[in-house]
Amino acid sequence: MARYTGAVCRLCRREGQKLFLKGTKCYSEHCPVAARNYAPGQHGQSRKKVSEYGLQLRAKQTAKRYYGVLESQFRHYFEMAERKPGMTGENLLRLLESRLDNIVYRAGLANSRAEARQLVVHNHYKLNGKKVNIPSLLVKEGDVISVAEKSRQSEKFKAIDETCGSRPVPMWLDADRTNYTVKVLRMPNRDDIDLDVQEHLIVELYSK
Ligand code: SF4
Repeated sequence: MARYTGAVCRLCRREGQKLFLKGTKCYSEHCPVAARNYAPGQHGQSRKKVSEYGLQLRAKQTAKRYYGVLESQFRHYFEMAERKPGMTGENLLRLLESRLDNIVYRAGLANSRAEARQLVVHNHYKLNGKKVNIPSLLVKEGDVISVAEKSRQSEKFKAIDETCGSRPVPMWLDADRTNYTVKVLRMPNRDDIDLDVQEHLIVELYSK
């Protein structure tokens, strides 16, 4: 399946919440969710009763779009989450949070997850001092991610520093922006994850 290449703000409006897909615009007054918080399209403003399946589907789509993963990848994470002890829904979100591209974004070392993905692929980061170019790599407690030395002086990272410098970093990460590094202190709890989604609906959808 091809990656979605349409207008990403439509995805946020479809899910009725900010998915933070566009970098700095998401944190500005120009975010369309604030001005037009209804689904896009001709029938976007019509009120209709949403079925149980519809709610489950929307929960799954919201999480999938938030982390920018494809359907098959998302299903794979769900199967991994099922095999782990504990609540499957929470395990699923924890797995998605531990993706390298997500942590780079959360630490303020990229403007969006999409940008983080692209920068990871182009070898701009290191994991525990070694080159890494796999955005989906699952990071563990104690791992340290850093921006490659040669990339730190680039215009790209200077711009990222300016735009992301004031963005809050979650408690489970220790970001040192001066040295372009972030350490994973622990894996996130559900309370640490600010995604507004009822993960049990995703579990119900995939358990049919
Ligand atoms: Fe667009 Fe970002 Fe606002 Fe979503 S959160 S509608 S991607 S500006």
